[in-house]
Amino acid sequence: MTSPTPSPVSAIPYTTALLTAQHCRGHTHLILGSNPLAASRATQSLAAGAKPILISPTPAADLHYAVAAHIASGVVAHHARSFRDDDVFSLGRPEVDCVVDAVFITSARDPLAQTVAALCRRHRIPVNVVDAPALCSFSLLSVHVDGPLQIGVTTNGRGCKLASRIRREVAAALPAGLGSACARLGDVRRRVVEEDGKARRQVVENGEDEGVDDSVDQTAAFNKLVTDADADAAKTRRMRWLAQVCEYWPLKRLAAITNADVAAILKSSPDAARVSNPSPDPTAATTGRIILAGSGPGHPDLLTRATHKAILAADLILADKLVPAGVLDLIPRRTPVSIARKFPGNADRAQEELLEQALAGVRRGQTVLRLKQGDPFVYGRGGEEVAFFAARGLADRVTVLPGITSSLSAPLFAGIPATQRDVADQVLVCTGTGKKGKAPAPPEYVTSRTVVFLMALHRIAGLVAELTEYTTEERGETGESLGPEGEGRSTLTRPLWPPGTPCAVVERASCPDQRVIRTTLKFVVEAIEQEGSRPPGLLVVGKACEALYAPEKGRSWVVEDGFKGLDLGLDLDLNLDEGVPNGVGDRTAIPTIS
Ligand code: SAH
Repeated sequence: MTSPTPSPVSAIPYTTALLTAQHCRGHTHLILGSNPLAASRATQSLAAGAKPILISPTPAADLHYAVAAHIASGVVAHHARSFRDDDVFSLGRPEVDCVVDAVFITSARDPLAQTVAALCRRHRIPVNVVDAPALCSFSLLSVHVDGPLQIGVTTNGRGCKLASRIRREVAAALPAGLGSACARLGDVRRRVVEEDGKARRQVVENGEDEGVDDSVDQTAAFNKLVTDADADAAKTRRMRWLAQVCEYWPLKRLAAITNADVAAILKSSPDAARVSNPSPDPTAATTGRIILAGSGPGHPDLLTRATHKAILAADLILADKLVPAGVLDLIPRRTPVSIARKFPGNADRAQEELLEQALAGVRRGQTVLRLKQGDPFVYGRGGEEVAFFAARGLADRVTVLPGITSSLSAPLFAGIPATQRDVADQVLVCTGTGKKGKAPAPPEYVTSRTVVFLMALHRIAGLVAELTEYTTEERGETGESLGPEGEGRSTLTRPLWPPGTPCAVVERASCPDQRVIRTTLKFVVEAIEQEGSRPPGLLVVGKACEALYAPEKGRSWVVEDGFKGLDLGLDLDLNLDEGVPNGVGDRTAIPTIS
């Protein structure tokens, strides 16, 4: 019977493997063969903490030198004879009744390959036969290893050379030092878990550790946990900050993580994050300036030239957490950069911290660039920042540069025209998260309206409920006093959104890992539950979602992965350094856009 909500996976025309990382410490690996591959299997087994046993009639002295050396040193056992069926049931660990944990046959031409593989499969002993995918119950990945970091690639039998080439390219694209950064961040994580264990468990139980689309500025519902009065909740800040560092810092930056960064993460207590407000000093030098600029939704080609020039010219850059890696990569190496320590419960303090740094820079006479994601005046606190500087007598030192906002470009990159004749004649951009975690008033249904919800995906269930049903408050069921007319009075007049209204979740728009989930309000919660989240993301609701896209019959949602929106096939070498003040830009770091 088909389920009423067929999984999008059913559309995939071939099956894929379930990739897992096996913990093999102490396991017995039986290796059949004597060729160089047998030697490399033995080495791999040893690296994974397993105990390899080589079965080959070849005398030890005639074996591949590497495996002979392992045998000589005692780390690999050698049975100099042919394989016997009983080996798989007798050479293993006593705690698993001496059944071996895996069998590797290192030559497909081994006359025993078929029968041994069949024997293993019958007894559910994992077996791998080189170059014979049909005989294997598991295959080995082409693996890149860097400290505790392992990246495995498989083409599922389409060619190991191809897999190895892809693995090499993937590895080459990673910044050096990522493995040690993983080790380091793992240590930090362990320390935080040990020290803040109780509060951490609370975060995990609430599902807030990873994948939370926390807003840049708004207090999300889950932030209610974090109050100054609540010591346990305050402790979770370190874990939250660590999660945000892992999610948002560019990999290059992560790979170069320093002792000072680690100390800052470990110090992320409420007090460490607090910055006092120095009293304004009207006599201070004000030759510096502040540029408040938007960096667009993600792809560096979506920067304006004005913002790009500001990046090259700034003395100090204070960036928001969501500013995309591709944009941060354009910053000249010598320019100091701070990334806001905004995480749920710390947004206000991180904002204060950054503004104070900006103020100090301007007073030192520096050109300070406040780099924001998208457009600075669209849910970017840009207006508040201008007011902050104006209140300190610096209004004439502030320049605001626009950026391409995600609210309009993300729908575009998902192929959704925010307006379209006869379909949508108005666009509403709103936040899904109100101040102090309170839900904002839901927009009413208008047939020809496209609504874009930012900062909404972490509370999608609540949001969809508010759009499609009356709230308990509206139904007069809150128990709160409703005024002189008495109880039970309700105003159920707000037009509700039909559950069949098309909608789309657009995540990491314009980034290489952009993802679009097309569905309807009825299924969007389930779709996000099943597909997980890939922040930052937004929700687009309205008929416009189907203006250029016809939903597939019988599918509750479809997922589209990847971004090609700027693949113009043009290979231009634009010199963007004209206009950079002499001696200010770092010429070696001026990028070309191709
Ligand atoms: N000033 C920004 C918005 C800041 S609010 C702008 O104009 O785009 C942060 C929210 O923007 C996120 O929670 C998410 O809803 C949305 N957002 C930002 N970048 C995005 C992207 N690349 N793709 C999808 N949504 C994005």
